[in-house]
Amino acid sequence: MKLLEGKNAIITGGSRGIGKGIAQVFAEHGANVAFTYNSSAESANALADELSKLGVKAKAYQSNAASFKEAEQLIKDVAADFGDIDIVINNAGITKDNLLMRMSEEDFDKVIEVNLKSIFNMTKAVQRTMLKQRKGSIINMSSVVGVTGNAGQANYAASKAGIIGFSKSMAQELGSRNIRTNVIAPGFIETEMTEKLDEKVVDGWRQAIPLKRGGAPEDIANACVFLGSDLSSYITGQVLHVDGGMHT
Ligand code: NAP
Repeated sequence: MKLLEGKNAIITGGSRGIGKGIAQVFAEHGANVAFTYNSSAESANALADELSKLGVKAKAYQSNAASFKEAEQLIKDVAADFGDIDIVINNAGITKDNLLMRMSEEDFDKVIEVNLKSIFNMTKAVQRTMLKQRKGSIINMSSVVGVTGNAGQANYAASKAGIIGFSKSMAQELGSRNIRTNVIAPGFIETEMTEKLDEKVVDGWRQAIPLKRGGAPEDIANACVFLGSDLSSYITGQVLHVDGGMHT
């Protein structure tokens, strides 16, 4: 069953990893997909071609999520190309890990800008369109680390915890106009990036997870389908942990 037939979605950071998985599963569910990338133009355009073959409209946009102006322009461009904007998934994110002792001011600021301020930028830019439509589903990508904290990731954990506070506030501000805002907190998700890590180390991580495996991008994508679709029409302000039971 196609759960997103005819809906228009924007996904930030769709060129690889989890965002790419979401774009693919959304297209399979009949959604038209606009997605952004930062620098991977070639793989982004290849993905747009791949999705178009599924019979949906798909387009890649180069847009720096950390830039307020670029987010505004992106929403204008997507509205012109697609019409209504039903779903926004703020997925773009980076890490710059270090113990506090070695963390530079620049690396703190950068992670907050790309991971947290981007969500302010996108929500601010899309709110007028969604208010007019009187509908919308915004899904923000946090992390298990935003709830538990993690040594060596103070900047990243702070950005991901900030996303939760921001999203819960938006759920309260925008709920009366039928705009829902929810958060997904992924655990350990295996992507091209984690393939490069030492297999023994990764296996140790897997064994510490109650479901005894890392997640796949599709596991996150399926949760996004639920939160983007009308199946979740009475759900807002929630944090959905998609982590194999890591955080209980
Ligand atoms: P990834 O493989 O590194 O992909 C990141 C994506 O974000 C890429 O498409 C990248 O575009 C884009 N991006 C980076 N900076 C950007 C910017 N300034 N503006 C626009 N796009 C930008 O990451 P991932 O593992 O799929 O993670 C996706 C999200 O899930 C992130 O928010 C991450 O924090 C969160 N998460 C991941 C895990 C995990 O285990 N993987 C766990 C918890 C949470 P380019 O290709 O052009 O660089």
